[in-house]
Amino acid sequence: MRKFLIVFSFAVFFAVIFSGQKMYAASASPNLYLNGTKLNPPQPPTIVNGTTFVPVRVISESLGYRVDYNKASRKILIKSDEKSLTLSLDSAVALIDNRKVNMPSKPLIVKGYSMLPLRFIAEQFGLQVSWDAKSRSVLLVNPVVTPPSNAPGKNVIQNIVMSPDNSITLSYLGDVTYSTMYLQNPDRIVIDVPNASLDNGFNGFVNSNDPTTFTGSIAVNNPLVSQIRYGLYDDKTSTIRFVLDMASSAAISGVQNKEQKQIVFTLKPSDTVPTPKPSRKFKVVIDAGHGGKDPGAISASRSKMEKTFTLAIATKVQALLSKDSNIEVIMTRSGDTYPTLTDRTNLANGVNADVFVSIHANAASSAAHGSEVFYLHQNSKELAQIMHNNIQAMVGFYDRGVKTANFHVIRETNMPAVLLEMGFISNPDEEKKLFNDSVQQTMAEAIAVSIKQFLKL
Ligand SMILES: [Zn+2]
Repeated sequence: MRKFLIVFSFAVFFAVIFSGQKMYAASASPNLYLNGTKLNPPQPPTIVNGTTFVPVRVISESLGYRVDYNKASRKILIKSDEKSLTLSLDSAVALIDNRKVNMPSKPLIVKGYSMLPLRFIAEQFGLQVSWDAKSRSVLLVNPVVTPPSNAPGKNVIQNIVMSPDNSITLSYLGDVTYSTMYLQNPDRIVIDVPNASLDNGFNGFVNSNDPTTFTGSIAVNNPLVSQIRYGLYDDKTSTIRFVLDMASSAAISGVQNKEQKQIVFTLKPSDTVPTPKPSRKFKVVIDAGHGGKDPGAISASRSKMEKTFTLAIATKVQALLSKDSNIEVIMTRSGDTYPTLTDRTNLANGVNADVFVSIHANAASSAAHGSEVFYLHQNSKELAQIMHNNIQAMVGFYDRGVKTANFHVIRETNMPAVLLEMGFISNPDEEKKLFNDSVQQTMAEAIAVSIKQFLKL
């Protein structure tokens, strides 16, 4: 990702290049608000013939788009994750993803600052723009900030009770479905109930009022089960997960009585250990970031591209995981091509993947360094933490931690999904490591090990 990389030398360029040009008076500057917060750009916004112009720095720093200036062609390139916009200092015609569009005016130069038509640019990137005449304010609202769905499921689980005859009764309102799964080391039985929430009078202890983070447990006095834990496993599907911590291994079977709105699970003690092998192949989608027309970030030496690095790592991860017969690896790209971000998430959702891993290298100033792991939805947190632990232990770049971010590929995927920033391609030292074959191999091993650990393979 390189969205936040900012070219700092604008003011210098423009001061030198345009010092002889005509200046426009910036009288009665309007106020500028982004999502309710007042912005104070270095050069105040100015209105000329009804068009509001703002300095480039508002576009890059406040709105977070990547901005590059090409001195020779006098062109400004503005990029978000999903769109690119090219403006010329000499023309009112802009290019949007290579399509020509007329702007209300060409950019202005005011006191050495390049000033861009705000409404035109903001609307291209999907911001809502409005004008409050009373306070003379331009109001920008970024509607992209959509938090994950926290709406409780429509089915309500009333209680879960274990009887001395080794049966467990789950009572509910609505029309629930469920699935069960046996896990080992230690022995656990998992019962998942999608599209559900807990009743206010639920019989367990709930340790949080936050519907996205609650967990709880019920002590059970039974020779087979030591306790029943529960929590919201997946906030996208509102899946409540019950985990039976087994004191002794047992097989579970469930019978649902839709009239009484109960599921009765029966546990049968078993001396035989359940088969540890999964009965199906896990689908793992590996996403090499960028590609084709989108090179991603350019390296400190200017000789290497992020898209080359991401494909090298993805290909190595594919080779490692393909050795495991329980895993099917699906690549979003295996050559120098550019699937859109939507293509990538549609692919993963379409095959109903179990895991999605997007590989990137970071870019900022040459001093920035280290690796970081991003996730968004609650169902991805465990995968993110496993990735972070293994990448730190095996690769050992400076630890920038586990973070959440609203990136398309981790927002629009239904399965556990992470985006990895393996290191900074813009840092001369890390550039060398990122393109070193044995470092790449270690990175791929850390990623492959993490995926297997997450899938309990
Ligand atoms: Zn990237």
